[in-house]
Amino acid sequence: ATVPSLALNNGVQIPQLGFGVYQVPPEETADTVATALEVGYRHIDTAEMYGNEKGVGEAVARSGIDRGEIFVTSKLNNGFHSRDDALRAFDRTLAELGFDQLDLFLIHWPLPGIDVDYVETWKALEEIYRDGRCRAIGVSNFKPHHLQRLFDETEIVPAVNQIEVHPYLAQDDVRAFDAEHEIVTEAWSPIAQGKVLDDPAITAIAERLGRTPAQVVLRWHVQRGDVVFPKSSSRERMAENFALFDFELETGDLATLTGLDRGERTGPDPDSFNYIP
Ligand code: NAD
Repeated sequence: ATVPSLALNNGVQIPQLGFGVYQVPPEETADTVATALEVGYRHIDTAEMYGNEKGVGEAVARSGIDRGEIFVTSKLNNGFHSRDDALRAFDRTLAELGFDQLDLFLIHWPLPGIDVDYVETWKALEEIYRDGRCRAIGVSNFKPHHLQRLFDETEIVPAVNQIEVHPYLAQDDVRAFDAEHEIVTEAWSPIAQGKVLDDPAITAIAERLGRTPAQVVLRWHVQRGDVVFPKSSSRERMAENFALFDFELETGDLATLTGLDRGERTGPDPDSFNYIP
């Protein structure tokens, strides 16, 4: 079974399942992404902050797969939020990847309390989009109050909002707000970096269905309509996380997983995180 695509609010199609490369060491990235492409992934999620865009670009180039068949996302690093810095950072991203055009570029964090307002940053992404150097633009770690300022003060509605989502942090309020505004939610750390996989409610469903806990949790995301890109460095787990489209969770199982929500983040809260590397 193949990976379905979702339509973004500008008509661009995004594969609902991708491969994330956070914490993949730069020197291993080309090989790791090459393996993911062999397994079948056609959507890679990287960021300037991860320091491994070059390896992603190398793997894409070496794969022999048409550039147009692989969806690549990167994100503006914290510290480059002013208009001019953002434009230069985007040029660096394209150069590192070795691409003429990126598929999706995101503001990585809203960064409260720094001296540049993310509204200025968003206007820089609008320029990049209008130039045609990026097929879609979006944000990451934005709460409804951040998004509302973009709606009030800028022109383009973000195509995606990439936020932490997993059974211990279901984020149904932010996801509903995104959906109301035709913004696709992307769920980062979809298995909470492995933390949810021992949960007895999840292992029970997995056992009953003859699936792994990771597959059950990733399938929950897919059925909720979010985009996911689990990270793994082993080919076996990459293949396990890719095999999500030949089974379905019943409504009761979906509700059980959503019911595990306890508002528990594995990463920082966007309202206080303002780390600049
Ligand atoms: P994840 O939830 O995908 O978990 C990854 C970890 O879980 C791996 O290191 C591995 O140890 C383990 N794992 C993976 N598959 C497994 C399996 N089948 N069985 C058992 N264990 C398994 O966490 P993540 O890497 O933090 O998130 C995924 C992607 O989301 C990242 O690579 C990155 O692209 C993105 N992300 C974005 C942000 C952001 O601020 N926008 C933050 C964090 C992550």
